[in-house]
Amino acid sequence: MALAKTEVQGEEVAPWWPADPGDLDVTLAEVKQMWWFLDGSIMAVHVRHHLWRSWGFCPRHTWLQAVADCELRWRPMSTAVLYEDLTGRAAHTLCGPGRVTPRRVRRLRPKESCFPCDYVLATRSDGDGRFGDSRQRVNRRQRTVDRLLETRDGWERRSCPVCLGGDGPVCRPHLLRGVDPGEDLPDVLAELAGRLRYLVKSMTWKGPTPKPETEAALVESLGWFAGWGFPVAAIDAAHKRPKKGRH
Ligand SMILES: [Zn+2]
Ligand SMILES: [Zn+2]
Repeated sequence: MALAKTEVQGEEVAPWWPADPGDLDVTLAEVKQMWWFLDGSIMAVHVRHHLWRSWGFCPRHTWLQAVADCELRWRPMSTAVLYEDLTGRAAHTLCGPGRVTPRRVRRLRPKESCFPCDYVLATRSDGDGRFGDSRQRVNRRQRTVDRLLETRDGWERRSCPVCLGGDGPVCRPHLLRGVDPGEDLPDVLAELAGRLRYLVKSMTWKGPTPKPETEAALVESLGWFAGWGFPVAAIDAAHKRPKKGRH
């Protein structure tokens, strides 16, 4: 299978900053892959091992896979389970005596390809027309934007200082570009993983009621892994869209 050049052949993982609203949209091939992925293969052991090595997806698909989960399912539980795992592993990876060293930061580079990138490269087709309705729903991003707006106070404050000027942890792409990680990054990520754990429990039967800080945790985790360009661009695009297009 062809490998996605963006993920495994580059030294850096660039934060994704959509240049225009069209960049936020998924293709039919992408939505087909995401549908089947969310429907089961994300649970397979060998897939999880690949996702450990790749640190999830490329920055663009990190956000768009979460959008697909939000729009095609009621709540993004698959994504929350995955990022609880990945965030906890990142905290563990960076842990050690003293400050976080560049050597430890380099462990955050992907060593495997991004699944959706691979799929799009391998299929080389426009996708499957049966997924037209799903694609429309994903590209409307209504639930995603509502969720981003509801939780904005939390995630904006704890965003990457380089991406959005917040007081949260420096995101993984900026760490890999040499930005100083600060002193307490492993602890900050471990705390974030704890909030994601609570969020996942809140999505289960008899689970606790989610708190605002746990609802914001998923956005914070995605922003840490992929950079923070998406939330701002998605909210901006939704405000520019004619109201009658949303239902
Ligand atoms: Zn990708
Ligand atoms: Zn950043």
